[in-house]
Amino acid sequence: MGEYLVRCPGCGYVQPPHALACQNDDSLLRTEYLTKRLTLRDDLPGLWKFYDWLPVKMPLRGSGEKPVTYRSQGLSRELGLANLFISFSGYWPERGGKMTTCSFKDLEAPPTVERMAERKDGQILVVASAGNTARAFAQAASEAEIPLVLVVPSSGLGRLWICREPSDSICVVSVKGDYTEAIDLAGRLAENPRFVGEGGARNVARRDGMGVVMLDGVLTMKALPKHYFQAVGSGTGGIAAWEASIRLIEDGRFGPALPRLHLAQNAPCAPIYAAWTGSGMDAGLCPAGMYDDVLFNRKPPYAVKGGVKDALEETQGLVYAVSNREAALAQRVFEESEDIDILPAAAIAVAALQEAVQSGTVEEDDPILLNITGGGVSRAKEELEMFTLKSDLEADPSALSSESSSDSVRGDLGAEILEILKRGA
Ligand SMILES: *Cc1c(COP(=O)(O)O)cnc(C)c1O
Repeated sequence: MGEYLVRCPGCGYVQPPHALACQNDDSLLRTEYLTKRLTLRDDLPGLWKFYDWLPVKMPLRGSGEKPVTYRSQGLSRELGLANLFISFSGYWPERGGKMTTCSFKDLEAPPTVERMAERKDGQILVVASAGNTARAFAQAASEAEIPLVLVVPSSGLGRLWICREPSDSICVVSVKGDYTEAIDLAGRLAENPRFVGEGGARNVARRDGMGVVMLDGVLTMKALPKHYFQAVGSGTGGIAAWEASIRLIEDGRFGPALPRLHLAQNAPCAPIYAAWTGSGMDAGLCPAGMYDDVLFNRKPPYAVKGGVKDALEETQGLVYAVSNREAALAQRVFEESEDIDILPAAAIAVAALQEAVQSGTVEEDDPILLNITGGGVSRAKEELEMFTLKSDLEADPSALSSESSSDSVRGDLGAEILEILKRGA
């Protein structure tokens, strides 16, 4: 149960279970579960039902909802599709959707926090994020009362709400600067042996957690879809869908063909689109002006072995660059036809699907899985109590930018954070 190896797809060697990188090359490591045939664990809640293919020994206390997958009627009719299924990650109680931070980052955080806690080496997880990732990790760590350091740009603090009282086990470090500076600071903090970075796309718990979208979709559809649509920034969700599909093919019950990945980005801030199509990109002002800035990632894991490029090549994938105007129209079509609000990021995927229908890339009867990566915020605001995270500590990267300051991030700031967490414990 839940037994696995971590293997490098580049050199083929088995790696230590918690490695984030191969000793020989820079491939994305991948889990290899001993159980090849997926058995749903009906005795476990939410996403933990997919325990066989999650890299944890037990469920995390208090969180881990799964998405809802259903056959679309409204949007299907709008687009003239007969086999459109929607995977909805968010809050939608009428359909059983209970992901309270309202995005599919709620699939990544619980397995990551649980896996970290299972190491029992006392290291504290550090997460840098300006948005949905920070909220999902704050929610999961609060529910389980597990120590967590969130590094956020101070400008993004206001949007960091969760649906329970934040636990004292969380320390929020606000960085005077942008997201890139927050990532940089978190990276330097993680060099202190008391802390550990979560690893982003390199973290198998994040990817296998997101893979639940494909697993749940396929169990509902009873077969692998022909097409998978998702809005991407880093593209990690696309990699996760591809990896989950490989496992489902090995399972043997769901068909032999990999779903075609249709990954959607927001033009012009679309580095994956630029790399895949070989077109240029002027990212000068990005992420300013984006339809949803959660979709901007300066360094997606594109060319590494096992990364986005491999996923696209293996699945004969396509990448879309969606304008803000197309996204706004798609959002309206979706919300009116499916009767639920969605996050702007998810509207980018809807717009890509519209484009694929118009160009004939998908046909009327094709089985399609559309990943609505976030939604139901308005529903959640009606029903749930919300709490905004407060900064525990301010860090000014301009005062910390030299080599000697790396030592001070590792040392002084680290010590201050440990002090705050100790007071909370
Ligand atoms: C993070 C996020 C995405 C993009 O995810 P990838 O990491 O690129 O797969 C899409 N939609 C929402 C709502 C997100 O929070």
